[in-house]
Amino acid sequence: MTPAIAKAVFVLLAIGWYVIRLPHTRRSRRVLIVRTGRGAREIVLLLMSLTGLGIVPFIYVATGFPRSADYAFRPMQAWIGAVTAGAALVLFYATHRALGRNWSISLEIREGHRLITNGIYRHVRHPMYTAFWLWAFAQALLLPNWIAGLSGVLGFGTLYFFRVSREERLMLDTFGEAYRDYMARTARLVPWFY
Ligand code: SAH
Repeated sequence: MTPAIAKAVFVLLAIGWYVIRLPHTRRSRRVLIVRTGRGAREIVLLLMSLTGLGIVPFIYVATGFPRSADYAFRPMQAWIGAVTAGAALVLFYATHRALGRNWSISLEIREGHRLITNGIYRHVRHPMYTAFWLWAFAQALLLPNWIAGLSGVLGFGTLYFFRVSREERLMLDTFGEAYRDYMARTARLVPWFY
């Protein structure tokens, strides 16, 4: 593994992510929204996540900026990053498949929204966010730069911590007891742990 290959793996991760998401973004435009938690605050959080996971690392990959934050490349670290990136993509694909038309980029309840509690959602209630955390860790492992590597953890972490309890509140308001039971038997991100 070389620094250039590690950067290429990160770019492939982003392309794979885009390809997996595209049909869902297209379909979601056609499914009616019946209830929304989207507002200025959500838009700011989404922009922070996009900046940390996308814009900052892409400027680094394309230009090397900010060079002063570089540190020594370690092949083993990058290999672990590549495996993490692969796991992120597999999980991202599985969660989109399971959520189907119930998915939204923000906090939204769609017409005919169903609560998904099986498959990949059986033991964990936010596996798509687990996939995003894996992206952020893969980024940190693949890019040997303190700023471009860690901006994903910071950007997505902010979105996650400010969003997750509001999302659960929206699900509780919509699905009541069913979601309360589901919460009682699942973890947020990692089975039987958190
Ligand atoms: N937090 C989930 C889903 C992310 S997508 C995960 O990480 O896997 C965000 C949208 O998914 C929200 O608009 C919410 O309405 C919807 N959602 C979250 N959990 C759901 C579930 N178990 N079943 C159906 N829709 C869900």
